[in-house]
Amino acid sequence: MPLNRLIIIKKLFAQVSVFTLNHQKIMPSTCYLCTRAFDGEMTRQHGEHIIQNAIGGALISEEILCETCGGKLGRTVDTEFSTALAPLTVLLNLPRDRGDYSRVGAKLIAKTVEAAPLEDVQFTLNNDFSVVPRQPVAVRDDVKRLVTVIGATQRQAEQYAKSPQIQVLVARGYTLELSTNAAAHVQNLLVPVGPNSKAVLRGVLKIAIGYASYSGVPRKDFKHLLDQDDLTKSDEMLRATVFPYYPTIDVERFFETEKHTHEDWYPTHHLYLFSQGADLYCYVELFGTIQKYVHLTGRYAGQPLMKKFVQKAEKWEFNEKTFIARDLKDLQILAGEFDVTMEGRLCEDIQKDVLNRARSRAYSLEPEKTIEKVRHLMGLLAQFSLLKNADHFEVVRSVFMKASIAKAQLGLSLLDDLQADPMIALPLVRQTFEDFRIGSIFASRPEQARMVSVVDLDKYAAYKIYELLRAKKRDSLLQYSIL
Ligand SMILES: [Zn+2]
Repeated sequence: MPLNRLIIIKKLFAQVSVFTLNHQKIMPSTCYLCTRAFDGEMTRQHGEHIIQNAIGGALISEEILCETCGGKLGRTVDTEFSTALAPLTVLLNLPRDRGDYSRVGAKLIAKTVEAAPLEDVQFTLNNDFSVVPRQPVAVRDDVKRLVTVIGATQRQAEQYAKSPQIQVLVARGYTLELSTNAAAHVQNLLVPVGPNSKAVLRGVLKIAIGYASYSGVPRKDFKHLLDQDDLTKSDEMLRATVFPYYPTIDVERFFETEKHTHEDWYPTHHLYLFSQGADLYCYVELFGTIQKYVHLTGRYAGQPLMKKFVQKAEKWEFNEKTFIARDLKDLQILAGEFDVTMEGRLCEDIQKDVLNRARSRAYSLEPEKTIEKVRHLMGLLAQFSLLKNADHFEVVRSVFMKASIAKAQLGLSLLDDLQADPMIALPLVRQTFEDFRIGSIFASRPEQARMVSVVDLDKYAAYKIYELLRAKKRDSLLQYSIL
């Protein structure tokens, strides 16, 4: 540390000891992968995104991975994970400061017979919805006497236009057009996506372990999920640990139907870390679409645990400038506001922490809002089930519509039950729904989800991905094939 900065910070500390008193650590923190204690030299702390940066994760911890291990898992887990989710992220406007997963490979179905040659070429779909070929290709319209050369770049299109097969058409009087976007010729784009691929499961496991470690769960509880210098690569271990969520009760069936029409800020990311006796689980939801349970351990011996984090997934108003200190006085105020440790640290690091926490605050949502929404929806269903001929109200129609889709897709019977026996409405509206997605030790939602058949799980996964597509109004253009 430069001497002048050290002196400044020491001077500052004479004034701000009030802030630092709150930050005395009980024990030195360590990296969960290599187990070394952070010493600022050999083992440096590092701001790790608990939910990956490439998918807009806003929760960052300096306490879970050292710089070396964070970089290592970035290469062995995050890169493949982000690539595997690119078919979904390409739809969204994500906040991120590095990495570009806003494009994905696609096969094209041509709109016209003339455009059929496009079906033989690989395309890249960008998140501005331009459709760019990997190699130059020509579309020839003999009626309009027009030849359109489409290249990955303008230059590539120009080069290809000079080739004999194009020049022969120009000599015959065809009009030549150059383009870098095949969107006008697209009937449909086919994009493969694998919500149960190994890359996705490992990425989800990393999120769950990171969140558990951040929440104070000791390493020994999830040590069996780590390899030497990496997360487990065992397929068997991975699939036994990370498994699909499924709405196994009517409340959840109703909530998960047309979720984009009632959930504020959809699509969102959710983390619920909870214990049920000796079992410790993390529910991970990404873009409201990829939903998994992670069984971290069956030998949890700590205090009962229930922690949640919910954030917006898409870009949100965040003005970085208002959180950048112009001088030390500013930094002191900002550090105080965001509860950032200052003692013995570089100004840059303090500033970085302030920005991380400010960003996380700007994106995070109150987890209780989900429970309130559940309560609200159940209240509406209970109330409307008693009405006769009230479906001229838009809100009633939409609730009934949701219930009918939930019945067809997921086997919801609640509305029928309510209409058959109105008395069950009373206990329903009195419920707190605090156990949403969690259940209890006697009726564990994760364990219920484990019992669901592969056919039903696959059908549900496809429905969720289609929901995202519809929410982003891209269902007429894009089609996912689920791997
Ligand atoms: Zn480490």
